[in-house]
Amino acid sequence: MTLFLDDVTLTYPDGEARLTALDAVGLRVGGGELVAVVGPSGSGKSSLLAVAATLVTPDAGRVVVDGVDTGTLDRTGRAALRRERVGIVFQQPNLLPSLTAVEQLEVMAHLAGRRGRDVRRRALELLDAVGLADRAGRRPHQLSGGQRQRVTIARALVNDPAVLLVDEPTSALDHERGAAVLDLLAGLTRSRGTATLLVTHDPAHLALADRTVTVRDGRLTAAVPGH
Ligand code: ADP
Ligand code: MG
Repeated sequence: MTLFLDDVTLTYPDGEARLTALDAVGLRVGGGELVAVVGPSGSGKSSLLAVAATLVTPDAGRVVVDGVDTGTLDRTGRAALRRERVGIVFQQPNLLPSLTAVEQLEVMAHLAGRRGRDVRRRALELLDAVGLADRAGRRPHQLSGGQRQRVTIARALVNDPAVLLVDEPTSALDHERGAAVLDLLAGLTRSRGTATLLVTHDPAHLALADRTVTVRDGRLTAAVPGH
């Protein structure tokens, strides 16, 4: 379970010119490793996650997910890889309003072709792992912000992803709830062996990461001193 970015460059159209969002980025995240990504707003952190998630195709370079060079896949192949090998947690919990917590997870399993009694069992296990065993039947509006974010984390894990990509998961939470979510992510990364890339703006999170990389103007620079 690894994530490997090799010499990745990504540009966006910018009027007549192009804006370089990622500039020859190289990064390897091993199984069970939690790598924190920091950097100023607009530096390219979300773009880094988007290429790692195969949601955006880079102009140049290679994105290798769990040993698969994603450049060799067509659209359908990338969608399948995302469903089966990649877990994504966005900044805002994007849950479906009409579904209960356990159903949010089941839908993702169904989309990956999983059926049967095992799916519910597994979904309930994951909700238990994120401390929500007693909230499985609640809909999003019946949950707190922190609980909703924990549902999205459990949902991202439902298909046992090799790679877990998390974008500022605690920005909508108070400090204490944010710390609990971070503890949870660090623990899940180690117990499940995922290669986890975590964008964060909170210096308190860096202590839980194995490594920190800094993005500045689309370039990956040296780790933050002391990490
Ligand atoms: P961060 O997550 O660090 O704030 P982003 O990766 O979102 O940074 O953005 C990096 C740069 O790319 C910024 O200059 C941003 O304005 C630009 N950008 C991001 N997404 C797009 C897009 N879809 N189209 C055009 N420019 C974009
Ligand atoms: Mg961002």
